Amino acid sequence: MVKKGDIVLISLLLILCVIGLVVPAAQKDNSDTVIVTAGGSIHGEYPLGEDREITVSYGGHTCVIAVEEGNVRMKAADCEDKLCVKQGAVHSHNEIIVCLPSQITVYIGKSGADDGGMDTIAY
Ligand SMILES: [Zn+2]
Repeated sequence: MVKKGDIVLISLLLILCVIGLVVPAAQKDNSDTVIVTAGGSIHGEYPLGEDREITVSYGGHTCVIAVEEGNVRMKAADCEDKLCVKQGAVHSHNEIIVCLPSQITVYIGKSGADDGGMDTIAY
């Protein structure tokens, strides 16, 4: 026996499910991505919203990039000038941290989308 109340309840649950599926997907679409490049090619892409540490080695240099609470910074680097570490944290779309000696860049952009931002980085 299916009662009218059950149908309402099931409908409500279905609607909640649909909202639950759609909303995170939409948020994910708009979320910024940390794009790490080494020597001009993409080393990896990481969601800005997930805390992590990324170690990148290139050309004999190693940089440690920290993603913390929506901020990205060069936590450590063995380059000569340490300008990348001194630059501090970035958190906005199109912001970039560059380590010139190691040719490692950290860029906040959109995942997979070619918004032209990467083209402005000249080596
Ligand atoms: Zn550096």
